[in-house]
Amino acid sequence: MNTRSREAPPAPAASPEGVGVIGLEAVLIIPLGCWFCWQAVGVEWAAVGWGALFFVICIIAVDLIPIPAWEDIELSLSFPIMIGVAMLYSPAVAGMIAVVGSSDIHELRRETPFLRAMWNRSQMSLAIVAASLVFHQLADVNARWWILVPAALTATIAAYAINATLVALHASLQHGLELREVLRKMHGTHPAEFLASYIGLALFGVVIARFFIEEGAWSVVVFLAPLVFARQMYFQSRVMADRLAEQNELLTAQAERLENLLRKESATVDQLRELNRMKGEFVAVVSHELRTPITAMTGYAKTLRLPQFADDSLLREEFLERMERQGNRLIGLVENLLTTSSLENDQLSISIGRVLFEDVCRETVEGLGTDAERVVTKVPDDLPVLHTDRQLLSRVITNLLDSALKYSPEEAPCELDARAEDDGLVFRVRDHGIGIEPDQMERIFERFYQVDSSSTRRFSGAGLGLSMVRDLVRHLGGTITVQSVPGEGSSFTVRLPTHAPEEAAAAG
Ligand code: ADP
Repeated sequence: MNTRSREAPPAPAASPEGVGVIGLEAVLIIPLGCWFCWQAVGVEWAAVGWGALFFVICIIAVDLIPIPAWEDIELSLSFPIMIGVAMLYSPAVAGMIAVVGSSDIHELRRETPFLRAMWNRSQMSLAIVAASLVFHQLADVNARWWILVPAALTATIAAYAINATLVALHASLQHGLELREVLRKMHGTHPAEFLASYIGLALFGVVIARFFIEEGAWSVVVFLAPLVFARQMYFQSRVMADRLAEQNELLTAQAERLENLLRKESATVDQLRELNRMKGEFVAVVSHELRTPITAMTGYAKTLRLPQFADDSLLREEFLERMERQGNRLIGLVENLLTTSSLENDQLSISIGRVLFEDVCRETVEGLGTDAERVVTKVPDDLPVLHTDRQLLSRVITNLLDSALKYSPEEAPCELDARAEDDGLVFRVRDHGIGIEPDQMERIFERFYQVDSSSTRRFSGAGLGLSMVRDLVRHLGGTITVQSVPGEGSSFTVRLPTHAPEEAAAAG
């Protein structure tokens, strides 16, 4: 409980606030000083004795012991001593002891201006004068405890009222705040608690006064010493508790951060495990995809070498055509693998040039061999000229047509149509095949993903086609969407700008 005004530097004297503060200080210091001088003449100092000096030293000593402040609270131990003094001596003597004794380390270090220091001493002294006046109206220091204690409490309340009012007045003038606001700030959030602690300190004052009367100065020293020690311990423990709480908070925050990192780490490990599993699966799938056409081609070659087929030109023609188809399937797979690897390593080579969509369509469909018969092409010849990568566009169309042919019955046709749209071109590959379940629509564009990846699946493939198509379309600055009805067929729509983006060209 700090009831001294030294927190802020004084307002400049020239300002109205500064004049008000100095006026208030002078109004208290001058009359009180004069009154003390006048009273000092009449006091019988021999009767007062060395006790007054003892209390002055006590007050100075407890005021000057440095204590660790905690949340702006400084527990004043000089206050109970002064209450004891108010009970022991007349108002004038008690006030003089208070004015001489109440010191402040800041005053000694010359950090508090002289007038402010005098004000601090005077307001404390006036509070003690009031306490002494009130106490002596109600009781004598030798009274029985049931008279002594209420009288001391009433005196303390009077001292507190005067002290708090003066300090609040001073602060309100100094900072230009309302008195009520200052009082609220002074008492923190719990004014009742504040008052209770004051009254508690006053009870110590009663003990000090009685000890002094009955046992002498030494008993006061013996009583005060553990109090001072307890006060030091209390504040140090509060400071330590605060520091511990701060460290606790820090540790909690660090633990949370670590937990988050751990969670991310374990998610990464899960992802890596999944990737590892997918890679294993992929190797098995690709090996199978490579072995099937090679086995077929080897089988056809062996058959063709048999003497009984040497002259069967029709059969030879058919077998050679089947070998070519298997070879094309192999080339397609290897090309998909290479493109995927280039995309993965950001090494896709792109060369932008003038491209006529209908030309690319015709060449791509022709490249399908006998399957070309199943493709119905509806591409008008007035489409805009594209500035894009011909090879990549061809690979997009080839892969979409391959899938359309693969996932639909052998005799079912697939359609490839195109139209101009806004500043670009839209083409669509439609089939009447098995279709795709709605919950699979998002996943089919994932790398290595296959709706049916079992070893007994009906359709060949490595799960690379659609993910590669989506990446290629993105590189060409376009988008791809899919509509599908299970059992009825699927339709893949690609939108391309007439000019592939600059960064695509730069990437190449
Ligand atoms: P895959 O090599 O297995 O065909 P894709 O990446 O081309 O790999 O396709 C992924 C999955 O999407 C396929 O396993 C298939 O189930 C489904 N899919 C792709 N295209 C079609 C289509 N036209 N009709 C039905 N399902 C398709």
